[in-house]
Amino acid sequence: MQTNFSPAQLADPDTAESAKILRACVHCGFCTATCPTYVELGDELDSPRGRIYLIKDMLENDRPADAETVKHIDRCLSCLACMTTCPSGVNYMHLVDHARHHIEATYRRPWPDRAMRALLGAVLPRPGLFRLALRGARLGRMLTRTVPAALIPAQLRTLLELAPERVPARSRVDEPKVYRAQGRRVRRVALLTGCAQQVLAPAVNEATVRLLTRHGCEVVVARGSGCCGALTHHLGRDAHGYARDNILAWTREINGRGLDAIVINASGCGTTVKDYGFMFRDDPELAGPARLVSERTRDISELMSELGLRTPVRETGQRVAYHSACSLQHGQRVTKAPKRLLAAAGFSVVDIPEGHLCCGSAGTYNMLQPEIAGRLRERKVANIEKMAPDLVAAGNIGCINQIAQGLQASGKVAPGSVASGSRVPVVHTVELLDWATGGPKPAALA
Ligand code: SF4
Ligand code: SF4
Repeated sequence: MQTNFSPAQLADPDTAESAKILRACVHCGFCTATCPTYVELGDELDSPRGRIYLIKDMLENDRPADAETVKHIDRCLSCLACMTTCPSGVNYMHLVDHARHHIEATYRRPWPDRAMRALLGAVLPRPGLFRLALRGARLGRMLTRTVPAALIPAQLRTLLELAPERVPARSRVDEPKVYRAQGRRVRRVALLTGCAQQVLAPAVNEATVRLLTRHGCEVVVARGSGCCGALTHHLGRDAHGYARDNILAWTREINGRGLDAIVINASGCGTTVKDYGFMFRDDPELAGPARLVSERTRDISELMSELGLRTPVRETGQRVAYHSACSLQHGQRVTKAPKRLLAAAGFSVVDIPEGHLCCGSAGTYNMLQPEIAGRLRERKVANIEKMAPDLVAAGNIGCINQIAQGLQASGKVAPGSVASGSRVPVVHTVELLDWATGGPKPAALA
């Protein structure tokens, strides 16, 4: 694609990067076929190619974002299916990230939208605040039942509905600590304990620590590490502060007792941490450490594949529908490792039809775009039900909650708490691997 950026525009490194990305696009349109919003809405402007044109026009003409452009960029899930499909290697992720920052800098959203985004950006990355907010949401839900639905903004209604019935107790695993390897130590790794996941499903980090230590890893929860910044980043806001804290925390460990890997068990976070090197590419102080951190980052399924799963200690055999989170399959191109591990653990693994399509969770998307997210969730649930699985496994907390709620809403399952009350439980892959190799049965299967 031909571009017409001026030399002055190209002096800005972000614009220069976007110009390079735009030039790689040959507007063939292959990406439209796998774009969930295009598949659902059928509007070219809700396809990757359409959005690329909108972004090009906005950036090239140095113009503030307008409502129409914002609408179509906001509808993008950042699922990155378009990147998997694109034959020209267009880095849509970096392009849309730049567009979102431009929108935040030049567009004033209506106040309910601004308030919602400010709330999400402030609360989700802070586990203490998030836990409090979830407890408050239960009260909010009761109060809103006394108010006519039409008077409650749709986004607020969705937010309250998404909050789980029960907030799990805080886990001590998330505090800074070193967990010794069982037997001979083969790796020393840092675990990102994250933010929202540790509140919604603390059992995932607990299972990860058990699994890794059982397989000879010394696991460090590094002091100073925390939210990876992905949620903030996808809201178009500056996430460098979160990333910097993590880079510094892990660099201290690398320079101290050493780290073979940084392990991530929420694939949305993994995609972002693997991109720290790019985020800090022009930072004179942190470019090197950020690159090193990104290079050492592994999804838990990648690391477990390197280590090799121990022989299972119990009969499993359940039929598991494996949901491949977009951030894992498109963002990190990790597709086979989780399924192989589940099979090695004794499960019968089945693929979900239309597995390339997002479930609609996508970070904060299901809260900001509830209508499209709901359609994608229904589609995902219908595809899962076709496979008649005993349970569903996924490697990302957002997908786990979204699908669990979809299964509950489908009416074919009993109501209950998120991820644990449905007759088709939805669990993290790690919980199944831990159970098969000696850990406790995941609560959702009890
Ligand atoms: S598939 Fe790639 S090159 Fe073709 S239109 Fe989409 S982004 Fe552009
Ligand atoms: S990231 Fe996903 S939703 Fe956005 S344009 Fe690409 S395929 Fe479509």
